[in-house]
Amino acid sequence: MLVDSHAHIELEDFNNDRDDVVRRAREKGIDYIVTVGIDLDDCRRAVAVAEEYEMVYASVGIHPHAAAAIDESTYDALRELAKNEKVVAYGEIGLDFFRNLSPREVQIERFKEQLGLAHELDLPVIIHDREAHRETMEILELRKGNQRGIIHCFSGDYAMAKRCLDLGYLISVPGTVTYKNSSILRDVVRKVPLDKLLVETDCPFLTPEPKRGKRNEPANVVLTARKVADIKGVSFEEICRMTSQNAVNLFGIT
Ligand SMILES: [Zn+2]
Ligand SMILES: [Zn+2]
Repeated sequence: MLVDSHAHIELEDFNNDRDDVVRRAREKGIDYIVTVGIDLDDCRRAVAVAEEYEMVYASVGIHPHAAAAIDESTYDALRELAKNEKVVAYGEIGLDFFRNLSPREVQIERFKEQLGLAHELDLPVIIHDREAHRETMEILELRKGNQRGIIHCFSGDYAMAKRCLDLGYLISVPGTVTYKNSSILRDVVRKVPLDKLLVETDCPFLTPEPKRGKRNEPANVVLTARKVADIKGVSFEEICRMTSQNAVNLFGIT
């Protein structure tokens, strides 16, 4: 059993072969894929894809890139979408100070609002943090005890991971853990307890080695799980079992 806790198979990158992509994932032993919305239209597509495939679940929320496009009607639309039984999380939300596609102050305000909405909806959150560790942690620490969820595509060091664990968050490991220059992430994987780890593809992005350079897809989460097994010195089966259990428990998939 294996779960890809963070994919974007609703994106048009998969429009020509989504059936094959889902089938290949199933053949590789992946039981569930969580496909994650990034703006309102994309959230609608994510829910539609989740309705189409039994093994696919959806997360809805507005990515920091699209934060500036949020208006009064956006949250009502998300509340409606979240009623769908295949919606298991709220996100991805957070801060992206690398690309800054929305102004930073707007990202921060919308992030706080969406943490509140996720709490209202009683959904775990999927947090995106790129080059915004300090601000992300400050905001999450303000909500201590009021939130549960995942730091997706974790890119901090172990000191930050420890703060996230203390707040009750899980740490999700992307395919970049297979890259030569990812020694800080491998250190995090080594030290974070197995009952706090998830694996993800973030496909079509971040393709793990040795497939780097090609479009990523959920079947490749196997490569990431193998690398995590190597780093932690436990069997591949144990990594699959533990990370899947963590995911299924958090998302409430039965
Ligand atoms: Zn992200
Ligand atoms: Zn993503």
